[in-house]
Amino acid sequence: MNAGQDTAPVVVIGAGCIGAAIAYHLGLKGVKDVVVLERELFSGAGSTGKCAGGIRQQFSSKVNVRICQESVRQFERFHEEMGVEDAFWQVGYLFLLSDEPSWAAFQRQAEFQRTLGLPVQTLTPAEVKDRLPMVSVDGVLGGTFCATDGLADPHRITQAYEAGARALGAKFRFGETVTGLRMEGARVTGVKTTQGDIHTPMVVNAAGAWAAGIAKWAGVDLPVLPYRRHCFITKPLAFVDEKLPMIVDMKTGVYMHRESGGLLLGLADKDEPSSFDTSTNWDFLEKVVEGAMDRIPALGEAEIATGWAGLYETTPDHNSILGPPANVQGFLLANGFSGHGFMQAPAVGQLIAEWIVDGRPGLDVSELRLERFAEHAVSPEVNVI
Ligand SMILES: Cc1cc2nc3c(=O)[nH]c(=O)nc-3n(C[C@H](O)[C@H](O)[C@H](O)COP(=O)(O)OP(=O)(O)OC[C@H]3O[C@@H](n4cnc5c(N)ncnc54)[C@H](O)[C@@H]3O)c2cc1C
Repeated sequence: MNAGQDTAPVVVIGAGCIGAAIAYHLGLKGVKDVVVLERELFSGAGSTGKCAGGIRQQFSSKVNVRICQESVRQFERFHEEMGVEDAFWQVGYLFLLSDEPSWAAFQRQAEFQRTLGLPVQTLTPAEVKDRLPMVSVDGVLGGTFCATDGLADPHRITQAYEAGARALGAKFRFGETVTGLRMEGARVTGVKTTQGDIHTPMVVNAAGAWAAGIAKWAGVDLPVLPYRRHCFITKPLAFVDEKLPMIVDMKTGVYMHRESGGLLLGLADKDEPSSFDTSTNWDFLEKVVEGAMDRIPALGEAEIATGWAGLYETTPDHNSILGPPANVQGFLLANGFSGHGFMQAPAVGQLIAEWIVDGRPGLDVSELRLERFAEHAVSPEVNVI
């Protein structure tokens, strides 16, 4: 037990990939004794542990491309920096488009992404078939492929951030729930927990799908809602190899990548209302498999090994909310990643640490401020899976 410490330079609420990455980057910048509070018994027990592990830079907005490019730079040196092998695989992401407006939009996006330095290729259906013979290109008009995108292991990465942060002086306190914030006027001065109070000049909200409840204690209205999302995994399949890219069929929204010798299949049920339900709806499997078989008919032979559901922490424009809320001091938000929090964790960890230590982030992410929702009509991220 680490309980007992009642002051800290920074308190991070939540030990998911975001909270753990923030603690690590604060340690790198010389902030010792950061306290990370997690009500579960290990890091990654929330959405991080349910994540499909996709890492991509192909986004429609510049800020998301930039954040993910920085994350990929960090994933590329993860082995060397963190001593963790076999946790990141640059197998690429392939988006398949089957209607004219989407194909035109993705071609425009590819051009724009190339101006930002991403090696995105556009592929004809024949080129897709040539690379991936098991994929049916019936009705496909084209695809975009970025070879530096890929997959990473959410558990290994998050555990490595925790270990790295601990080595740099952070304390992770598990089984300790934050029950309130200490406030002096409009300033957050600490947290109340099931084990007592901790006084701190800086609280970071990294509570994932539960972040809105925490923000409310500071009088901040955070538009982050939980949505249940599923993944299913097949038993090993002969046509799956280590180089298979993530395949996203934009016609149905089904995504597929290699996992344990088989395929991980994922699909968002866009009709499902917001809730904190994380039970697995096995009735939904049929819809997922139907969409997947549309692209990979050989999946007709596949057996399902397992499946699960977790929560997306979703904002109205599918972009994260980063930085200090206006009118509240001592409080930083790292929330609302809307299905792309794991891939953004390395960069977000760095940006939040820069905010705390240097007073501003190294990348201009002002368009991700909370106040955007009240200020103007937001432009949503289009590439949401
Ligand atoms: C099925 C599925 C597939 C996904 N696939 C991808 C993908 O391919 N790529 C990708 O980038 N992202 C993906 N995501 C999204 C990604 O998992 C999340 O965006 C990311 O994990 C968010 O990390 P986090 O640290 O903010 O939240 P979490 O991992 O949820 O961590 C928040 C933590 O806060 C803790 N907490 C909450 N309230 C309190 C409190 N009061 N006191 C103490 N602790 C508290 C929780 O217990 C939790 O552990 C997927 C998500 C799901 C569900």
